[in-house]
Formats: sequence, structure tokens, C-alpha cells
Amino acid sequence: MLSLALLAITGWLISSTLELIATTDQATIFIAKLSYLFILSAPIFLLGFALEYTGKQKWISYPRFILFWIIPIITFFLVQTNGLHGLIWFNYSVVPVNQDLQVLRINSYGSWFWLQAAFNYSLITAGVIVISNQYFRSNILYRKQMGWLILGAVFPLIFNLIYILRLIPTLKKDFSPLAFAFASLAFAIGIFRHRLLDIMPIARNTIIENMEEGVIVLDTEGRMIDINPVARRLLFPSDQETTGIGASLTDYFPTATPSLAQDDQKNRGFEFSIERNKSKRLFEGKLSSLRDFQNKCIGYLLILQDVTEQKKLYQKIELLASTDTLTDLNNRRHLFALGEKEVDRAKRYKYPISLLIIDIDLFKEINDTHGHVVGDQILKQFSFFLQSTLRSVDIIGRYGGDEFIVILPKTSLKTAHITALRLCCTIDNNSFSTEAGEIHFTLSIGLSSENNVTHNTDLYALLERADHALYLAKSRGRNQVAIEETQETPSLNYNSHLL
Ligand code: GH3
Ligand code: MG
Repeated sequence: MLSLALLAITGWLISSTLELIATTDQATIFIAKLSYLFILSAPIFLLGFALEYTGKQKWISYPRFILFWIIPIITFFLVQTNGLHGLIWFNYSVVPVNQDLQVLRINSYGSWFWLQAAFNYSLITAGVIVISNQYFRSNILYRKQMGWLILGAVFPLIFNLIYILRLIPTLKKDFSPLAFAFASLAFAIGIFRHRLLDIMPIARNTIIENMEEGVIVLDTEGRMIDINPVARRLLFPSDQETTGIGASLTDYFPTATPSLAQDDQKNRGFEFSIERNKSKRLFEGKLSSLRDFQNKCIGYLLILQDVTEQKKLYQKIELLASTDTLTDLNNRRHLFALGEKEVDRAKRYKYPISLLIIDIDLFKEINDTHGHVVGDQILKQFSFFLQSTLRSVDIIGRYGGDEFIVILPKTSLKTAHITALRLCCTIDNNSFSTEAGEIHFTLSIGLSSENNVTHNTDLYALLERADHALYLAKSRGRNQVAIEETQETPSLNYNSHLL
């Protein structure tokens, strides 16, 4: 629309010049009549631009836009046939300006002319109103742009009124096209200096105002110069009146703002929390510097997001992904991840590490006799027993079915053996109460240990050895602890078949 308006203005300027330098009266009149093509269309395109600029595109789309053209089309037809009715120019003559130039001087206008003039002024006035309306609703940043637009639209209007109403009697020529050329200059300043079309306020309004993230524009001093509603709600939830504009962000949230001085880093992300009504809200912020065309920092853009719920959900998902649903112990995958870390630590700090695989004896029989529900109750209670009996640093997990794994950091073979025997004994000497009554069962435990960890020590080798030991414990008659014999295993001077 702006391009079309500028094209019409250019056409008007050219025809106006041609009208001046035409050598015959007929040519002057012909060009004057032709120039109406531009005179009539420029205001429509200018209003079209104002509507487009403020996001009211629906007005300039088919079929509504046709309405704008009805009067101008009639006018153009009447201009061309003016000789027959005088509805446009009632009394006119071609008068010389000097010895080379002449203009069409209108002494009195016809009645349709005034209708068309009123229509043109209405279009321009409507454009000014549309933009002014936006002006007051827009942020201060965008007002400069709009100021140039309004100036550009009002300027030719004043010029044209001066000419038509004969406010300067000696003025022979209508300088409106020249005024429109100045208007184009004002638009150009708006476009190039204030990046008019790069950041159209309507785009800014719809995007920034409706964004789910909080957006804050800071000046170079860290003062807030623009805050969108989400940011305002995040920062001032109990005080709807506070706009925060002009205030320094650090005054409100000393810990929330990263140092603005290091503006060389792009998109610095940071996290901070704000205490609200005794509950802590967690925010994620992203700060980037705003630069002008000379790459000078002119402010900062801070994007805030309340990530409290997200973080909670993430923790929940993390928990779900790492725990066994029945027993709440670490699941196999998480157990291995923790185990690998523990083996690495043992290697680094050179401390012993032991591993137990615990299997409930004849668990299938419990299931078959009392049902799966009771079996599940046993598994849950046994898991709770393991957690409450073992040290908090021990890593306990469900390997699958009725098999459990315990990783014992900083535990020698001897200590691990005693721990395993204690588990076996305690379970054998007690029973678990279920909905099917008191149930007694026993454990078989396979133990592997690495007293002198080397860089070859590996979690999966420990597991394999413990698994083999478990097989030994089962084959030797269950309810016992077995140790996978390796060359490094020291001879034990206590009875491993204690039970
Ligand atoms: P043993 O280990 O002493 O050789 O005998 P067992 O009966 O325990 O042998 P096995 O390991 O073959 O059986 C394990 C049983 O555990 C089989 C399966 O029905 C049961 N089981 C596995 N997962 C669950 C579970 O989540 N809930 C219940 N109730 N039972 C389970
Ligand atoms: Mg079993």
C-alpha cells in the first residue's frame, strides 16, 4: 500500500510538472485531467497503508476495498467530461506563471469537486485517526515512527486546504503534490531511521502482548522501558497498578538480573527464584543485547519464563523413569547408571566395592499359594526392609522379578559378607504380615567384591560374578550367602555357611 501511495504521489508530481511546462492550453488541461488519476488514488492508498500498518487489513481486502473506489471513479469520469456539465471545474482558465510556464487556474469549483474534496480529506483524516489511535496505545518506542507518519499525512492536507480555500491569494499553483513528496520524505525517515516497517507496532502488540513468555525491554542502564502483561504478572502479581516502566529491574530483584556489562555474550541464560506467598517460583531468563546499525548496544531484551511447574513435572518424570513402580526402588537402568558411577569413584579414590544379588527363595510358591497380590505385598515389604536395614549410601535396586541388587561402596569383602549374612539371618528369623497372614521366606545371596580396584574393575564383571555366586547359593541348598571365588578372594576365617 505504501509503495502504491508513493507511486501515485510520484505520478502526481510528474503530471504536475508536465502541466506546468505544456505549451498549449489543450495539453495543460489534458494533463491536469490526467493527473486526477493520481490525485484520486493517492489518499486511498495512504489510508490503505495506515490500515495495513495498524493491522486492520480486512478493510483493504476485497470486496470492502471496492467501496473506497466508487466516488473516485465517478469523479474521474466527471473530470474527463467536465466540459459537458462543469461539475468539477465551473470556471477555469490557463494562466501563465512566467513566460515559460503555465497552469490551469480554477476560479470556481463545481459541486461534485467539493464532494470529492470532502471524500479525500475524510480518507486522509481517517488515516491520521487510525494511526493516532495506535499512537496512544503503543509503547513509547514506537511513537517516534508514528509521529513521522502522522506528520507525513497532515502536511499535504494543510497545503491543499491553503490552495483550495485561497488562503494565500497570490498562490497560483496547487503545491499539494510537492507537499506529498515531503510526506514521502517523512515516511522515509520513519522507515530508515526508526525502522518503521521492521517493527510494526501491530506485530509488536500481537506478538509481545500475547506471548506466553514475559518480555522486558531494558535500556542500557537496566531500567525497564517496556514490559508485556505476562512479565508484569510474573514480577508484580499482587500489584496490578505497578507498570514497572522506568524502574530499575535490579531495584525489584537484585539477584534476578545478571550483570548487564557482559553484553558481548549473546542470549545469556540464567535461572532465579522469587518467593511468592511463601511459595518459591522458579524462573528461567534469557538476556540478549539490542544493537543499532552501528552495533552499539542500545538496550537489552529479557525473556522470562515461569518454569516452576515444568521443573516439578520434570522431577516427577525423572523419578518415574528411574524407579521401579512396584517397590519404589531404583529400576534396573537407573541402578546400572548409579553403579557405574560408584565403580568409577572406587577406581578414582581406590576404595573397595562389593555387590550383592539377592533372590527370594521359592518365591513362585508364595505366588502360587497365596496369589500375585500377596506376592506383590511381600516384594514391597522386603524392599522397605532393605532400605531401612542398609546404609543410606548403599545403592539398592530391583533387578527384576524377585531379584534385587545392592551395591555397597567402600565395603570390603569381609564387611559385605557380614552384611549379607545379617540380611539372610534376619529374614529367616522373621516373617512378613500380608493379607494372607504371616508369611515366612528365605533369601539366597550371591556376593562379589573388589578389595583392590584396578582400572580393569567393571560393574558388569562384578554382576556376573555375583550372579554366579547366587547360582552356587541356590545349588548348595538356598538360604545362604555364596561368594564367587576368584584368585584375589582371601581365605575367610569365619563360617560362610553360618545358616
Ligand atoms: P528360586 O529363586 O528359589 O529358584 O525359586 P523361585 O520360585 O523364586 O524362582 P523364579 O526366580 O523362577 O521365580 C520368580 C517368580 O517371581 C516368578 C514370578 O511369578 C514371580 N514374579 C516376578 N515378578 C513378580 C511381581 O512383580 N509380582 C509378583 N507377585 N510376582 C512376581
Ligand atoms: Mg527366586
